[in-house]
Amino acid sequence: MNPELGDGTRVVHAVSGEPGEPFGAQPVFASAFHLGGPDYYGRAGNPTWRSLESALGSLEGGECVVFPSGMAAISTLLRAVLSTGDTLVVPSDGYFLTRKFVSEMDVNVVEVPTAGPYPSFAGVKLVLLETPSNPGLDVCDIAALADAAHAAGALLAVDNTTATPLGQRPLELGADIVVASDTKAVAGHSDVLFGHVTVASPELATRVRDARTVNGAIPGPFEAWLVLRGLGTLDLRLARQAENAAAIYELLKGRVANLRWPGASDDPSYLVAAQQMRRFNGVLTFELDDVAAVNEFLARSKLVSAATSFGGLHSTADRRAQFGDPVPEGLVRFSAGCEDTRDLVADVSQALGLV
Ligand SMILES: *Cc1c(COP(=O)(O)O)cnc(C)c1O
Repeated sequence: MNPELGDGTRVVHAVSGEPGEPFGAQPVFASAFHLGGPDYYGRAGNPTWRSLESALGSLEGGECVVFPSGMAAISTLLRAVLSTGDTLVVPSDGYFLTRKFVSEMDVNVVEVPTAGPYPSFAGVKLVLLETPSNPGLDVCDIAALADAAHAAGALLAVDNTTATPLGQRPLELGADIVVASDTKAVAGHSDVLFGHVTVASPELATRVRDARTVNGAIPGPFEAWLVLRGLGTLDLRLARQAENAAAIYELLKGRVANLRWPGASDDPSYLVAAQQMRRFNGVLTFELDDVAAVNEFLARSKLVSAATSFGGLHSTADRRAQFGDPVPEGLVRFSAGCEDTRDLVADVSQALGLV
């Protein structure tokens, strides 16, 4: 896809099908195919997967392999790339199940905060970054860390879930691998779990695809189709979500502790984020006093729901400590949805007692 085109054009045409075909690929549910075509068995390949893989791969500039969840993508990638005794760098402040998964592998794990400082990568096999990190929203310099990883002979992977394929193109910044949960903003409607891996190297793509066929962590065609449906409106949804996040940031500035949104020019993440991200999104974090203050906020709000996950149509707030993230009890990850900005700001303002 022409990278000069705008984001709306790129997502709409990534999912639009060919002349003479339906607008958008339709789900194909077959387990077995008549031999002689591109497919033979549904665990090895499926036309609906390939439509989505071609759409996501074209947006990210690499070869995409889809999975039934973000964790299926991450765990399959890590098992495909790492061998017993290898050393791996992971973010200490990133998605908690990634750390849990690697803690159970027979590898040496070095945990580093996303904001650094980073150690030497000598002897490291794979550096996994998550930027912006979830839930803290720190960012790191992908291009600089890719250079450092490559100089040490390591591969560099980026969990791009928070940024989305429109918000950041890690492969263009020098990363070897993108992993992501499409459960969040890419699918965007809180009705499907999904994930993918996109890589620059065709050889690695084949290895990851073969691993999927062997371990059987395959997505359903209906779920792949739901993600294709969602992807077509990603530009529109991100635009409203970012507009809402910017307005909530302005509302909360100076009135709650540790307010973070990488799109705000006074955020500690902003300089690096503005240089490597193409656009910002609807996820912000802040801290209220304690559990009771978060519960009171949620009870008083009429538009913000208590829910984990983020990037959906609805504004949601998630007190991350309840799920075991190593963060303060009152830390809230707020996912701005697609409601009207005026309504959302008025609701959050009254719910926090700011009016
Ligand atoms: C949600 C999430 C995952 C896991 O994805 P699932 O689709 O829930 O399996 C991985 N990384 C990040 C950054 C996430 O936010």
